[in-house]
Amino acid sequence: VAQFEPAAIVSDACASYSTLEQLNDAIHPYLQSITQKTDFFSHYRLSLYSKKCPFWDDENGMCGNVACAVNTLDNEEDIPLVWRAKELGKLEGPTAQHPGKKQQREQKARPLQGGLGMNVDESCVVEYDDECDDRDYCIPDDERASAKGDYVSLVDNPERFTGYGGVGSQQVWEAIYRENCFSKPPKDSKSTVQSSPFGAASFGGFGNEGQMQAAHQLRDVMKSQGLRDNVKSAIAQGTATARLDPVEFDDTCLEKRVFHRVISGMHASISTHLCWDYLDQKTGQWGPNLSCYEQRLHNFPERVSNIYFNFALIMRAVGKIRQHVSDYSFCSEDPAQDLRTKNSVLRLASAIPSGPDIFDETVMFQDPDSVALKEDFRNRFRNVSRIMDCVGCDKCRLWGKLQTSGYGTALKVLFEFDEQDSSRDPPLRRTELVALLNTLDRLSHSLRAIKQFGAMLGERDGVA
Ligand code: FAD
Repeated sequence: VAQFEPAAIVSDACASYSTLEQLNDAIHPYLQSITQKTDFFSHYRLSLYSKKCPFWDDENGMCGNVACAVNTLDNEEDIPLVWRAKELGKLEGPTAQHPGKKQQREQKARPLQGGLGMNVDESCVVEYDDECDDRDYCIPDDERASAKGDYVSLVDNPERFTGYGGVGSQQVWEAIYRENCFSKPPKDSKSTVQSSPFGAASFGGFGNEGQMQAAHQLRDVMKSQGLRDNVKSAIAQGTATARLDPVEFDDTCLEKRVFHRVISGMHASISTHLCWDYLDQKTGQWGPNLSCYEQRLHNFPERVSNIYFNFALIMRAVGKIRQHVSDYSFCSEDPAQDLRTKNSVLRLASAIPSGPDIFDETVMFQDPDSVALKEDFRNRFRNVSRIMDCVGCDKCRLWGKLQTSGYGTALKVLFEFDEQDSSRDPPLRRTELVALLNTLDRLSHSLRAIKQFGAMLGERDGVA
């Protein structure tokens, strides 16, 4: 059951549905092998438990299901060499001191004059930068070797159905969509809050799309307060503003539309994974749940389209870091392993069309007032990354943080990297690189699952 005309171009991207599917067929095996088989990309380091939700008291929204738990790697010997604190500690190197903000700025201004980290691979040096770079779209989780961090195997903690739902997850999604206070989303009009057939209690009031419109009206309030207060104030005023009239999505500019599509596409991709790897509580078996797919995705073509859109966007970003990866040092003690990892990523990047054939970021932020718009866009996305600390299920928080970081990294690459002159490109942390490729892998997996769900629907309904 095809949801889209294959030749149709995915709106706001440059490629058709069928082109993206063909590209997915080509890159999926590379992605699988990178994310499943290399130590570097199959592991992640993050603050999973140590950060409190900065926006509300999250005690009530915690998920107690076994499926929500994450197995962290607590013993040093279980952590692959390339990720061990001992190895990360070495990255600082004898001559590469951590640059202060001023030094970093100076270096950005005179990148070729050496100084900091001379003769030391830059990607190793900047591992220590736990401060937010001005050009970051995410709040980085502190990844210093000395800082508290949790190591996880992404392979051993797959993204799947956890049973997390109800008021807790609703509140998080609503807060996330409130950051998109620019506009009303596309015509996903059926998606006002409904009671969930999957056991999640519905959150009274209004759907997150409605709240996004409401939050549009809160922009002035938000601007006059600190960004961190945005969510708090929106939450406090949510019900009061819910009755505001919708703002026409068609009137909004490309950048605001893209912001919404990224968020909605991430949400839709998460829904796809949980429907694909769903626990049948009667039989105890894990497997695809067709009615979950139908009710959360198939009945909302816009959501599915947003997954394709995100696939195009992230793929473009991965294609754009080819040179960066080529120069990147993976910094393990095993040069042969590092070379294998690098070659795998380069093979993947080479399979992606170069230039803006699938997604053209150069058409964004072109208006004279785009400096402020870009700042707004970036700050909103940073807030989305902060909201991830409010997710009350450890497994969902792990994958939510990873994917938010993956999108944030892609946005940084798209809007801050210069393919012609990389000397002023902002650094990429190892966690950003890992998040970027794993997020592409998640989207790749979603596209395949959607195709298979479509075939299952066709079989069920007797459509050839
Ligand atoms: P929800 O998915 O919670 O959606 C809430 C409302 O948002 C809907 O009623 C609709 O109005 C709107 N909406 C839904 N999808 C879209 C879309 N794509 N675009 C625009 N609007 C939309 N659960 C798991 O089982 N496994 C996980 O790994 C997992 N990860 C999560 C990660 C995060 C960051 C969060 C916040 C939640 C996660 N969850 C996970 C929970 C899951 O996303 C749902 O919230 C939960 O299954 C309850 O679903 P629901 O039917 O109430 O609708």
